[in-house]
Amino acid sequence: MRIAVLKKDSCRSKKCGTECLRFCPPVRTGDETIVIGANGKPVISEELCVGCGICIKKCPFGAITIVSLPEELEKPTHRYGVNGFAVYGLAIPRSGRVTGILGPNGIGKTTLINILTGETKPNFGRDNVREEDILEYYAGTDVHDYLKSVYDGKQVPTRFSLAFTRLPAYTQKVLKATVQIPLGYVASYGSIAKAVGGGARAVGNVMASNPFAPIVPCHRVVKSDFALGGYSGGLKVKLEFLNREKRGFLTSKEIKVNRRVLQVFPVEYSLRNLS
Ligand code: SF4
Ligand code: SF4
Repeated sequence: MRIAVLKKDSCRSKKCGTECLRFCPPVRTGDETIVIGANGKPVISEELCVGCGICIKKCPFGAITIVSLPEELEKPTHRYGVNGFAVYGLAIPRSGRVTGILGPNGIGKTTLINILTGETKPNFGRDNVREEDILEYYAGTDVHDYLKSVYDGKQVPTRFSLAFTRLPAYTQKVLKATVQIPLGYVASYGSIAKAVGGGARAVGNVMASNPFAPIVPCHRVVKSDFALGGYSGGLKVKLEFLNREKRGFLTSKEIKVNRRVLQVFPVEYSLRNLS
């Protein structure tokens, strides 16, 4: 299958005569192979484009290219916008078994892991997909039960084998301490620093580049006054995680990290701080 794909950065729709639209043969016969989107740039329909290549020759800014794709066998599990990257299928961890996701860079492994951890909600290539729609789509399958647990904030069997050993020693220490923050609790950057050495800022730097979020739950690390601090996935996502992880614990507790003490606090302390 050959389709035309827009290079959004190259498109200068305010400076051209929208030649792509005007010369597209299917558009000239009355269908909507190319329409102008809300941002004023063309949106090309994968279903209707016949891959003739005329728009490529007509565009004065070289903003369209043709790509060859294998025939789509099924609906995508997740797509990053119109003409965007899409992944298919979903690997499901099963209790007592090892599930691996293998493949070269750029085939969607991270997207699948993010779906399994709840950081990304699968959209099946559509807009406005809600959690209820996702659970209904997977009704009656193991995927349904697994994702429902994730969305309900329950502990799920995500015991991924993590490539810690390739990381710098200090990063390993910080991430291993972070893993120990239990569901329903948060710890401060400073308290982790006390447990593993270094300072709060150094811990924050490790959190910012945590390659295993949210499996290594850096969203459970907050400022010493329980303000959210930062999160590489955005504060909205951090807040969503913490809201799901409310367990109604009332008091702080101490856990042992490197034979030192790491004090953790109910996640409600942070959420209360925001209200
Ligand atoms: S793709 Fe080319 S012809 Fe079409 S709107 Fe953009 S710049 Fe203009
Ligand atoms: S390749 Fe042909 S059919 Fe597809 S958008 Fe361009 S002009 Fe239209």
